[in-house]
Amino acid sequence: MSAPVIERALPTPEAHDLLGLTREIASAELLPRAADDEAAGRFPRDVLRTLGQAGLLSLPFPEEFGGGGQPYEVYLQVLEEVSRAWLSVGISVSVHGLATYPMATAGTRAQQQEWLPFMLSGEALGAYCLSEPQSGSDAAALITRAERDGDDYVVTGTKAWITHGGAADFYSVMTRTSDDGHRGITCLLVTAESDGLSSAPPERKMGANASRTAAVILDGVRVSQERRIGAEGTGFAIALSALDAGRLGIAACAVGLAQAALDAAVSYARDRRQFGRPIADFQGLQFMLADMATQVAAARALYLEAARLKDAGRTFSREAAMAKLFATDAAMRVTTDAIQVHGGYGYTQDFPVERYFREAKVLQIVEGTNQVQRMVIGRDLTR
Ligand SMILES: Cc1cc2nc3c(=O)[nH]c(=O)nc-3n(C[C@H](O)[C@H](O)[C@H](O)COP(=O)(O)OP(=O)(O)OC[C@H]3O[C@@H](n4cnc5c(N)ncnc54)[C@H](O)[C@@H]3O)c2cc1C
Repeated sequence: MSAPVIERALPTPEAHDLLGLTREIASAELLPRAADDEAAGRFPRDVLRTLGQAGLLSLPFPEEFGGGGQPYEVYLQVLEEVSRAWLSVGISVSVHGLATYPMATAGTRAQQQEWLPFMLSGEALGAYCLSEPQSGSDAAALITRAERDGDDYVVTGTKAWITHGGAADFYSVMTRTSDDGHRGITCLLVTAESDGLSSAPPERKMGANASRTAAVILDGVRVSQERRIGAEGTGFAIALSALDAGRLGIAACAVGLAQAALDAAVSYARDRRQFGRPIADFQGLQFMLADMATQVAAARALYLEAARLKDAGRTFSREAAMAKLFATDAAMRVTTDAIQVHGGYGYTQDFPVERYFREAKVLQIVEGTNQVQRMVIGRDLTR
C-alpha cells in the first residue's frame, strides 16, 4: 500500500507542484534503494544529483543566483517528504543548505556572484565544518588554526564528524584566527581540490550509513583572503546563525522519519491478525497509534511555526531549538513504538522500523544535542 498523502495547507500553487514533484521523485528514486544502500553503507551521490537537477537542493536560496526562492515553510515540507522516503538523503539536503548559508547570508555581493551559482547549481555539494575531536557542544573551543601569510590564510587542524567529508565540493570551515574565545573565530570557504585537504575513512555508525560522515584534515591548506566569509572574528556568529536555520531542517527530517514509522505501523496493524482479528481493532493498539500520530502532527506544527517566523523576518532561534528538540525526541518515541506495533517482526531487519529506530537516535545529537537545545531555550527565556 502506498503511503498516504499528508494534508498540507500550502501557500501557493507552485508549492503544491513542488510537493507533488518531491513525492514522485521520492517514490521512484529514493524509496526503492534506501534499504539496500543503507545496508551497504553506499553514499548515494547520484540521487543527490537527481535532486539537484530537479532544483530540490537549493530551494530556500535566492533565484537570482540559481536558488528556488522558496520560503522555509515550503522548503521544509519538501525536506520532510524526502526524509520520509530516505533520511540520509534528507540529511544531505539539509547539510548542503547549512554549508551554503554562510555565503548566502554573510558573503559580500561580489563573493555571492562568484560562488553562489556554483553552490546552487545542483551539481555541487557542501559540507559545514564546526565540530572538532575535542570541541563538540562547546564549539567555541575549536583550535583549527588559520594563520595569515601574505594574502592567504594557512589552515591546519582536524574537523570531526563532517557530513559529506571527503565527498563535498566545498567546505565552510570555522577556524581560529585569534585567541579571543568565540570572537577569535573566522569562517573560510575551502574548495575540495585544495592542496593539504584530506578526509579520514567514514565513521562506522549505528545508522544512517548512507550518509557519509568523516573527519576532515587540513594540513597547511592555503586559502585566499578573498575566500573569507564575513570579517575576521565573526565566524562563530555566522556558524550559530546557520545552525538556527539548520535546526529547522533537522526538525523537518525528524518529522519525515517519524511519519514513515507511523505509516509502517498503521499498515502493519491493519494486516497482522491475532485473536481472530486485525490487531488494529484493539483499542490498546489504536491508542498507541493515536499518540504516535499526535506527536508527528505536533512536531510538524512546531517546525512550521518557526519557519513562518523566519520567513516573516522575525527572530526564530528559540522556536527553531524547540522544534528540533521536540521533533527529534518525538521521532525517537514514534520509531520505538513502531517496533512495538510490529512485535517480534519489528525487531528484525525484514521490516524497516528497526532501521528507522537506529536512524532516529542521531537526530537527537546532530546540530546541537538536545541538551544544547534546552540550553538555547533556557537562556533565551531567562536573559
Ligand atoms: C552522524 C553525525 C553527523 C555530524 N555532522 C556534522 C557536520 O556536518 N558538521 C559538524 O560540524 N559537526 C557534525 N556532527 C557533530 C555534532 O554536531 C556533535 O556530535 C554534537 O555537537 C555533540 O558534540 P560531541 O559529540 O562532541 O558531544 P559532547 O559535546 O562531548 O557531549 C557529550 C554529552 O554531554 C552533553 N553535554 C555537553 N555539554 C553540556 C552542557 N553544558 N549541559 C548539559 N549537557 C551537556 C551532551 O548533550 C552529550 O549528551 C555530526 C555528528 C554526527 C554523530
